[in-house]
Amino acid sequence: TQRFVAPLAEVSNIVDQIQSARASAERVFGLADIPVHITERDDAVDLSTSTGRVAYDDVSFAYADRTQTDGGDQAGGTAVIHDLSFDAAPGETVALVGETGAGKSTALKLLLRLYEVTDGAIRVDGHDVRELTLGSLRRNVGYVSQDTFLFDGTIADNIRYGRFDAGDDAVREAARAAEADEFIERMPEGYDTRVGERGVKLSGGQRQRIALARVFLQDPPILVLDEATSAVDTETERAIQRSLDRLSEGRTTFVIAHRLSTVVDADEILVLEDGRVIERGNHEVLLDSGGKYASLWAAQTGN
Ligand code: ADP
Repeated sequence: TQRFVAPLAEVSNIVDQIQSARASAERVFGLADIPVHITERDDAVDLSTSTGRVAYDDVSFAYADRTQTDGGDQAGGTAVIHDLSFDAAPGETVALVGETGAGKSTALKLLLRLYEVTDGAIRVDGHDVRELTLGSLRRNVGYVSQDTFLFDGTIADNIRYGRFDAGDDAVREAARAAEADEFIERMPEGYDTRVGERGVKLSGGQRQRIALARVFLQDPPILVLDEATSAVDTETERAIQRSLDRLSEGRTTFVIAHRLSTVVDADEILVLEDGRVIERGNHEVLLDSGGKYASLWAAQTGN
């Protein structure tokens, strides 16, 4: 009996670790569908500060089973990403465009290792992401989406989630960079105002700015942006856009692009259809080629 104690304790410890990693991934990425099976290798290495070089080598991916109620009628295995390859040099912006369901967000979730590639490899600074500790990978990759999780705590706590050891000055500076400082100061208790279930209700735009402040504080060399499509007023939209532009400066940025300006300025645009890159290049090249991108562009601009 004695001999079973240690192993069982270990198993439950591992389960705890996985569950807490899962819980924190859910919080940070605001996703409810984080799989539990992503684990770290025993010999996983810590990536210090990445230069921001990212490479996808023939990446393919299939969801193991359908966890979403999108009419799936089969028990998994269908590839949703096929032979995806590209290189992003430090500081470059790569835009992913394509219709809903084309595989844009799945492709980027693989970089964060929220899911594991089925084939091929994703490398950051030459390291296969499967060889890295999850903590160091995710510290190096900031994630900005329209539904970032804010937990029940103060505004300062929520920003500090980007970097736990940050002092008050750094928190404020990040808030200023995200143009959140002003509205925070107007709150009843400023940075100590509670948000969430037991605190004040924030508008969508305010939540986004707090989420952005968090990523400024995190200061990652690589960014994954899921551009907002949800309606905020024009003023807020502009403020958020200015912050995003500042944030992506000097960082390797992957963006699920909905706004035209992002796409036009991207170093490379990948046009996805059914999980395959059907066109790639910069805006001018793709427009000239008169293909899918050109028609998406025409539909959006009305030309
Ligand atoms: P996009 O971001 O371009 O809209 P997604 O990456 O969200 O595309 O989806 C690509 C494909 O993967 C779609 O067919 C979608 O239904 C499917 N899919 C997305 N998430 C899951 C999931 N958690 N489980 C199973 N299939 C999924």
